[in-house]
Amino acid sequence: MNKVEFSLADEEKANDNTINIFSIASGFNYEQLLRIMMLSAVKHTKHKLVFWLIDSLVSPDLRSSLDVLSKKYHFTVRFVHYKWPSWLNKQTSRMRTVWAYKVLFLDVLFPLDLKRILFVDADQVIRADLYDLYSIDMKDHVYGFTAFCDSRKEAEGYRFWKTGYWKDFLQGRPYHISAMFLVDLQRLRATLTADMLRGHYQILSRDAESLSNLDQDLPNHIQPRIPIFTLPKDGLWCESWCSDEDKPKAKIIDLCSNPARAESKLDSAMRIIPEWRALNEQVLRDISPPELA
Ligand code: UDP
Ligand code: CA
Repeated sequence: MNKVEFSLADEEKANDNTINIFSIASGFNYEQLLRIMMLSAVKHTKHKLVFWLIDSLVSPDLRSSLDVLSKKYHFTVRFVHYKWPSWLNKQTSRMRTVWAYKVLFLDVLFPLDLKRILFVDADQVIRADLYDLYSIDMKDHVYGFTAFCDSRKEAEGYRFWKTGYWKDFLQGRPYHISAMFLVDLQRLRATLTADMLRGHYQILSRDAESLSNLDQDLPNHIQPRIPIFTLPKDGLWCESWCSDEDKPKAKIIDLCSNPARAESKLDSAMRIIPEWRALNEQVLRDISPPELA
């Protein structure tokens, strides 16, 4: 890792108008979705966008396609790296390791002069200027998450946080979705919040039955010690939990899995997001070798 990747360019340091987005894409389909998410974000803002990705999860194909897209659409891609600490309980599946990287190392992944980061799942399409969300006043909270939608009535039976263990535990607090979240990195570091989170993870991860949605259960479970700022609910819409009436207001659409229906993300994308095909075609044209375009 060279030094440049660990410090911000002077322009970025001075420019508080930059939106810093952290995302993860491991696997061919998620790489395709990530490029579309990036293009949709670019199309809705005049602000400078910097996307932060985990170096070891980026395939050579993704790296070269992002090189082309970042030049064409004037955004920046930065790669970060952090080796899983030997003392921290490991995850055995790659998927759960990916989820852990979403939340556990936010204090050490990024340069110290980066003030905020917005995590965005690769399977999202952006429909508004992310700067409004990025610059929101979180009232001294470290984290901002959106609460799960309550509006799709037929999903009620799947809202596991409204019954049993989670209902008792939450004591009226919302259960938040981890598909998109905002982090005040300065406050996170100053309050040693990430240490608390790793300590909490270390205890809960001893039990194989715990943390079934690792990146989501962990911040929700530590809410009594680390309160979450609940972001406005029109920030994120996903079909499984949110009603059709709420959809036109959505700033971001997530292709979250539906507990009641098996459908691939690409099929969901084409069915749910009218602009998805055009975005997909645009990206494919941009990244195809000239003879195939
Ligand atoms: N992810 C990934 N590869 C995978 C699965 C997930 O890179 O094989 C990343 C990706 O950023 C994805 C996020 O983890 O958007 C969360 O997973 P997913 O969106 O599938 O969860 P869902 O929205 O279905 O709950
Ligand atoms: Ca998702």
